[in-house]
Amino acid sequence: MFCNQCEQAESGIGCKEYGVCGKDEDVQSLQETLLCGLKGMAAYAHHARRLGRSDEAVSAFIEEALFVTMTNVNFDVPTLLEKVLECGKHNLRVMEMLDEAHVAHFGQPAVAEVGTGTRPRPGILVSGHDLLDLHNLLRQVEGTEVLVYTHGEMLPAHMYPRLRNHPNLAGHFGGAWQLQKREFEAFGGAVLVTTNCIQEPRESYRDRVFTTRATAVPGCLRLTTDDFSAVIARALELGPIPERAGAGIPVGFHHSVILGAAPAILDAVKAGDLTRFFLIGGCDGAEPGRNYYSEYASNTPGSSLVLTLGCGKFRIMGHDYGTLLGLPRLLDMGQCNDAFGAIKVAAGLAGALGCGVNDLPLTIVLSWFEQKAVAVLLTLLHLGVRNIAVGPAAPAFISPNVFKLLQDGYGLKLIGSDAKADLAAALA
Ligand code: SF4
Ligand code: SF4
Repeated sequence: MFCNQCEQAESGIGCKEYGVCGKDEDVQSLQETLLCGLKGMAAYAHHARRLGRSDEAVSAFIEEALFVTMTNVNFDVPTLLEKVLECGKHNLRVMEMLDEAHVAHFGQPAVAEVGTGTRPRPGILVSGHDLLDLHNLLRQVEGTEVLVYTHGEMLPAHMYPRLRNHPNLAGHFGGAWQLQKREFEAFGGAVLVTTNCIQEPRESYRDRVFTTRATAVPGCLRLTTDDFSAVIARALELGPIPERAGAGIPVGFHHSVILGAAPAILDAVKAGDLTRFFLIGGCDGAEPGRNYYSEYASNTPGSSLVLTLGCGKFRIMGHDYGTLLGLPRLLDMGQCNDAFGAIKVAAGLAGALGCGVNDLPLTIVLSWFEQKAVAVLLTLLHLGVRNIAVGPAAPAFISPNVFKLLQDGYGLKLIGSDAKADLAAALA
């Protein structure tokens, strides 16, 4: 453990093995888990609030949960575990509000093929998660020669008609966040990063990167209003970006789209033509071990559907999965907050089949990187979803005892080192 939040911090540096206050590593672990979950939920709540949605019960919980993590307030493992799961409950509500707000503002999602090439005109690459920033930018480039491309977690923007049909939205460029240094440099135009995950820019492109509100890096202009004229001016100044060819990516498998196909899906499950659902996704990252996910996904049987979301999708995309029931076998449900949609689909299928979510032929293999993934995991645990595999490594803030609590209570496990063996076990 490490804690330096009060004056009693050991040697004026921090308590490492045991708190001077009496806090042990399990209490510290649960408090940190709660803080991480709150951070992830706060990011989603911030997006929802910008789109006019908030919930007083969520705000009240955030205050109470922060209070719980203060010095000399709570040393009780069961109470802290209860608060951790309550964070998951409130995050479910936040993801629901965000889903509703996205649909209300940007239109009913539909399946679309997104081009990944670029055209020789001034360009702006928009990364991060804030669809409202993208929408405002598109409105401001309307009538100009500037074309706008999505990057990373902005890819799901193309499933919403009010964004997809905008004449200046030209496609998608690039993969997950950890490739941005190479991709932002190669893009050639202005870059707008609306949220995480931004990396410290290279000098070669720092002067054409802009950020919005909470997101900032030294030497780049941070925009604090919805006025994007500085980004547009920079794109025009930089001139045409290189022309590139690119394949199409299918997006738009929102929960409403998948549940729209529910009758055919249920018939196929009953007939044995659809044998398993996999949810493989979450965050991507640069650490070794993440090829586990691509190997796992590419070996899933042809009689299964693979749902994905978050930037973890880029890791498993480069494989031809074929089709099943007229659907691509790999179904991109959207951003990490669209885990709400995966929950809706699982609950909908379980309801129709007259069983619980844990009785579905469903395997969940999550990749985590940062605190939004923690909030999503807490939501799944709050719902009682069992046997989730998470990786590539255990969170450093989860102590061995707390991990065992989650293992015993929910069957939570770490991914193994052999994707094919783990897949065979899931199918057995
Ligand atoms: S809150 Fe407890 S563990 Fe943290 S610095 Fe203070 S005494 Fe140490
Ligand atoms: S899914 Fe997670 S890691 Fe990926 S861009 Fe979003 S916040 Fe970052």
